[in-house]
Amino acid sequence: MREVADALAIVLKHAKPLKPEVTTLTADVLGQVLAADVVADADSPPFSKSLRDGFAVRAADCASPNAELRVIEEVPAGKMPTKSVGAGEASRIFTGAPIPDGADAIVMQEDTQTLEGGRVRITDPDVKPRQYVYARGTEMRAGEPVMTAGTVINPAALGVLANVGQTVATVFPRPRVGIIATGDELVEAGAELSAGQIRNSNGPMLTAQTVRGGGFPQYLGIAKDDRAVTKALIAKGLAESHVLLIAGGVSVGDFDLVPNVLKELGVSFHVQQVRMKPGKPLLFGTTETGVLVFGLPGNPVSSFVGFELFVRPALRILGGHEAPGPRKIRLPVTEGLAESNDRPTYKPAQLVPGETGWSVRPLPNSGAPDLAGLQPADALLVLPAGEARVDRGTLMEVVLL
Ligand code: AMP
Ligand code: MG
Repeated sequence: MREVADALAIVLKHAKPLKPEVTTLTADVLGQVLAADVVADADSPPFSKSLRDGFAVRAADCASPNAELRVIEEVPAGKMPTKSVGAGEASRIFTGAPIPDGADAIVMQEDTQTLEGGRVRITDPDVKPRQYVYARGTEMRAGEPVMTAGTVINPAALGVLANVGQTVATVFPRPRVGIIATGDELVEAGAELSAGQIRNSNGPMLTAQTVRGGGFPQYLGIAKDDRAVTKALIAKGLAESHVLLIAGGVSVGDFDLVPNVLKELGVSFHVQQVRMKPGKPLLFGTTETGVLVFGLPGNPVSSFVGFELFVRPALRILGGHEAPGPRKIRLPVTEGLAESNDRPTYKPAQLVPGETGWSVRPLPNSGAPDLAGLQPADALLVLPAGEARVDRGTLMEVVLL
């Protein structure tokens, strides 16, 4: 049996970033990782522009109080000025419009009075050179890198990529994740329950965890507890996936067919059990072609936790992320805990905002089948093995989901 940290290290040793590919830039690439530097194609802004609606002036002309200037033209955004601003002159200007030659400052409209005869009075008592001017190239300069390989594409990155004229980018692809649920007792959500049956929670849950973890899920369905059926479905999954998840059937019961089937299909095991609660019977193996195979325990809470601790970090590495996670922080607990566990325990928990910062509240949970109890969780509270007596306010390790 492996410790959690050792099992994770083994998983990560076998996880390698996928081959980068060129992809069209849409919001679908959110969360993917750039595999090449991005260089600015032009200065941004490409021209010095006004940060306010107002008047482009020569600051020196406004030194005396209530200076009056002659307005020579109007420059809206999207148009180039045609006249340069000379001594005693101003151009009416709008936010985002190019600043005319000659002008070195913008006086905002609120600090002016429009006069008869095309003149304007400047009531700003202290017009400084360069005020409200956003100079050409301030944000980025042509030819310089604006984002480097390894950058996670967030909404701002998509805006920056558009700004530098990119419609495609070289990114690490999303890993394809095959998902199989196992068990004779399982039916899908649309079906009526017959005696002895339960509905398949793990299929939809792992599909969604895969999406949240940056993977591209392919749900392959339920494998009945029949050797040939299970083998055929797993073989299909191995052929089509970078990562294959099999939920249930991984333990030591008579109907737990998965370990033997995986062996027959040439999967070598690197982890067979992990010292954690829930989720001890967790399998990790690889094929010769490098498919990562996870056998997750059938109970949904166990499957969920196993995914977050081992599968999600692997997906991040395949997807080109530098830090695999899981992301951990320490937070005070909102209530005392007293329990004894033979293994390190991951309890569904909720982050709670407070005036002095965040804390973490363990959620009531009746055990590994209790997915409804886990549902509100946005964190897992980690309790070490042994007698745990934790007072309210104690800083505890928390895995962020
Ligand atoms: P197993 O790991 O196959 O022995 O399953 C352990 C427990 O989890 C059993 O009570 C199963 O009925 C239940 N279980 C297995 N797979 C699922 C699933 N996909 N959705 C909900 N419960 C499941
Ligand atoms: Mg089963």
